[in-house]
Amino acid sequence: MADRVHLAVGYAKVNLTLEVLGRRDDGYHDLATCFLRLQLADRVEVRVTPRREPDLALGCRVVGRPVEGGAGNLAWRAAEALYRYAAPPGPGGGGWSVSIRLTKTIPVAAGLAGGSADAAATLLALDRAWDLGLGVAGLEPVARSLGADVPFALWAAAGTRAAVGRGRGDRLEPVQPGRTCWVVLVDPGLGLGTARVFAHYPGPVSRPPGAPPPGAATDRVARALAEGDIGQVAAGLCNDLEAVTFSLVPGLAELKAKLLAAGALGAAMSGSGPSLFGLAGSRRHAREVAGRLGKLVRGSLAVRVVAGR
Ligand code: ATP
Repeated sequence: MADRVHLAVGYAKVNLTLEVLGRRDDGYHDLATCFLRLQLADRVEVRVTPRREPDLALGCRVVGRPVEGGAGNLAWRAAEALYRYAAPPGPGGGGWSVSIRLTKTIPVAAGLAGGSADAAATLLALDRAWDLGLGVAGLEPVARSLGADVPFALWAAAGTRAAVGRGRGDRLEPVQPGRTCWVVLVDPGLGLGTARVFAHYPGPVSRPPGAPPPGAATDRVARALAEGDIGQVAAGLCNDLEAVTFSLVPGLAELKAKLLAAGALGAAMSGSGPSLFGLAGSRRHAREVAGRLGKLVRGSLAVRVVAGR
């Protein structure tokens, strides 16, 4: 049998809201979050070849950004997990060689779920290469086992533009945005592990009497997004992890203030950071904000305008 080559694309996301509702017994936190897919993507190519020996032989090469291609890579882990889950029979009772080539554009350890995007794209590409016919619904348990952001990444790779996530962020309800959100994405250029941020997280602060219940901000923003009311989406942006990440990354709080001063309708950190984003009403507005921010910040800063859809 000839080699089979399949391609898939994995998208970055931002969290329009990220509410931490409490700590769970399994060490994760319960969240309410509104994910928005960005038109910023990694490309995954899988080449699948039958081999005489049983089992899976894996290789993974990464170009574009400095990430290890070995067994710690989420694309590698996704291939292993799917192989174990679905046990695709090789022709003649043998196994499979899978070589993965990852072209990375999404900044690494930035709160944009680039690793999750690669894992999701790998699952979709291998589902086709091995003729498993699992589809998004069938791949979801494997996605969930790989990380809290992988289920949304899987939906996003299959066309979903936004969703509310509950539980670890992996119990999803799709949201159909009423219009394109234009995003000014700011990558401060340093990686920050999610585990480190949660390790410093002091726990939810007690809410004053009469304050909206936990999760309400996410519902409000999801509704505004569906209605295409960017002003209300911008007004509702929030992230409970900002205070921790701002205390770990000098200058990040000031950078957010500059994004607002540059004219963004609203600004927030994505995930556990350190990426920040600002919302704009149109592509042109977003470009103006990016241009003004460039003048407000000394030194080099990766600022890009991307569509959230
Ligand atoms: P998370 O919220 O899951 O920590 P993130 O969006 O902040 O993710 P990622 O780019 O997904 O950041 O990377 C998180 C860590 O995972 C990095 O430290 C990196 O070394 C490791 N990693 C493993 N595989 C990948 C991959 N394919 N792309 C990027 N990072 C990867």
